[in-house]
Amino acid sequence: MGGDLTDSKVTENGSPAPVESVPVKGISSDSGQTYSILREGEADILLHGNDVFYNKAQVVNRDISIAVIRAFVSKREQEHQAEVAKKLSRRKGASKTFGAPDSTVENSVSVEAQGDEANDVTESAEVKTITNASEEFVTENTPAKPIRVLEALAASGLRALRYAKEIEGLGSIVATDNDKVAVEACERNIKLNGPVVAAKVEAKHADARVYMLTHEKEFDVVDLDPYGSPSVFLDSAVQTIADGGLLLCTATDMAVLCGNNGEVCYSKYGSYPLRGKYCHEMALRILLACIESHANRYKRYIVPIVSLSIDFYVRVFVRVYTSANTIKATPSKLTHIYQCVGCDSYYFQPVGRITNKTNKNNSARYMPAIGPTILPECSQCKKHFSMGGPMWAAPIHDADWISTILNMATSMKAKYPAFDKLHSILTAVSEEILDVPLYVNLHNMSATLKCTPPSAAIFRSAVANAGYRISGSHANPLGLKTDAPMEVLWDIMRCWVKEHPVKAQATATPGSVILSKEPELQANFTKVNAALSKAQAKGVARFLPNPEEYWGPKPRAGRHITNKHMAALGPHVHQTQSGNVHIRQDQVPEEETKAKKQKRDEGST
Ligand SMILES: [Zn+2]
Repeated sequence: MGGDLTDSKVTENGSPAPVESVPVKGISSDSGQTYSILREGEADILLHGNDVFYNKAQVVNRDISIAVIRAFVSKREQEHQAEVAKKLSRRKGASKTFGAPDSTVENSVSVEAQGDEANDVTESAEVKTITNASEEFVTENTPAKPIRVLEALAASGLRALRYAKEIEGLGSIVATDNDKVAVEACERNIKLNGPVVAAKVEAKHADARVYMLTHEKEFDVVDLDPYGSPSVFLDSAVQTIADGGLLLCTATDMAVLCGNNGEVCYSKYGSYPLRGKYCHEMALRILLACIESHANRYKRYIVPIVSLSIDFYVRVFVRVYTSANTIKATPSKLTHIYQCVGCDSYYFQPVGRITNKTNKNNSARYMPAIGPTILPECSQCKKHFSMGGPMWAAPIHDADWISTILNMATSMKAKYPAFDKLHSILTAVSEEILDVPLYVNLHNMSATLKCTPPSAAIFRSAVANAGYRISGSHANPLGLKTDAPMEVLWDIMRCWVKEHPVKAQATATPGSVILSKEPELQANFTKVNAALSKAQAKGVARFLPNPEEYWGPKPRAGRHITNKHMAALGPHVHQTQSGNVHIRQDQVPEEETKAKKQKRDEGST
């Protein structure tokens, strides 16, 4: 991947260029290696010819992260202005009540105090003290506190450098890495980007978990972008983030999250994945439920902003708040899922519920959910079910945020090297139905019936004509999200097959059992424009192919090392005939052993 980059020419006009690199004479490593400079967005980094630290496939990831943080900076400023206005009016005696930490917080249900009464009282007292103390100094011109960013697994620092150079309104950025070589590379790259960046970005050699645990509620933006699973970092990440702060979290262990080894997923994330066609969205929901679970331990909860499944990884953006009351609603935001082993029909089994009835205090009550929600035998094909979860069942995106992010990004599209892909992904996200988890796959349903699939437009129209909502999914071009029950969807398919007959099957299959039943609903396939994607109708791309071959995750740093790196790594590193790296443990310097140990502890897959 690096080889073709060094051939490209760099423009020297300083404009934000797309990804490119140019060989640099005279800059050499300790072992005499020549570097090239790679520019992505406005940041430069030093790069070996085939550097494991640079992953071009992640340009989209970094672009979207920048777009979301820009929106966060703007949102924080608005919230600060609102808070100042509130404090000023309170000082004038207009109000004596204390509101929720944020007006956008969902599920702000008033609840019975009961067991948490003591905690809540303590919390309110703390809030009051802080508020009173700060009110003395607040004026209309009081600026918001500078935003502190933690890039917890920074590697070469490219992400932190892009944040520092491209996002206005950030105070300081700490870039930690447990690998000394990476920290040294990061320090070189900080210098390379000039004194303004050097004053803002600090590289630290630290175990991210320890660093986050010892810096409680200090960071407004925390970015976790590990190789593989983030699971071991979550417990400390939810503690280091300030109230209302933004957590950005990537998971690249998609095989695990998508159900290849369900028990491994359970051990890492506390949830059983199912191998459904909706698995990429389920992966997002498992990760969100896991973050929520860690947050709840510290009386905190998450509010998802945007949750993305892109290529070979998932990345979620959530805000983290503290409220002993709100976390009581967590079980009602989670669900198990039953999936039929015959026809892939799926049904939800919520974990908890909030009763509509109020008690004498006029507050909601939290109860276990009612179940089972289905019979043991599939009503469509008579097979049994697998049960997965629990997973996040509440919305995974916030519509207002998505539209803000899209508008802001569009207004400065030249600043994003991967703008087209960013725009297509967020456009697809913006069209998703928010209150319906997961999606069906039309080709999969047709394969069960062994029929020719109807076009998405025809199927979507039939669902809309039956009185239900339907949308696409950013996670799968063939995915369809709908609030129509499974029996309605199968009835539409039964009607489709009546118009497009299939061959009779010799033995009873899930498909033949489904088709043996007469549809109760008479599907209307008349095309309805309202059922279709607005972006598609306007010719706006929702799915773009990847721009080059070999698009995918780079090997974990240190796993595949070229001859050039062998020399730099020292005499204790040897390459085996199969191309793997052999490290003689008796000769490994102490720091390196520690780094290896941490990577093993992280639970590589
Ligand atoms: Zn079934």
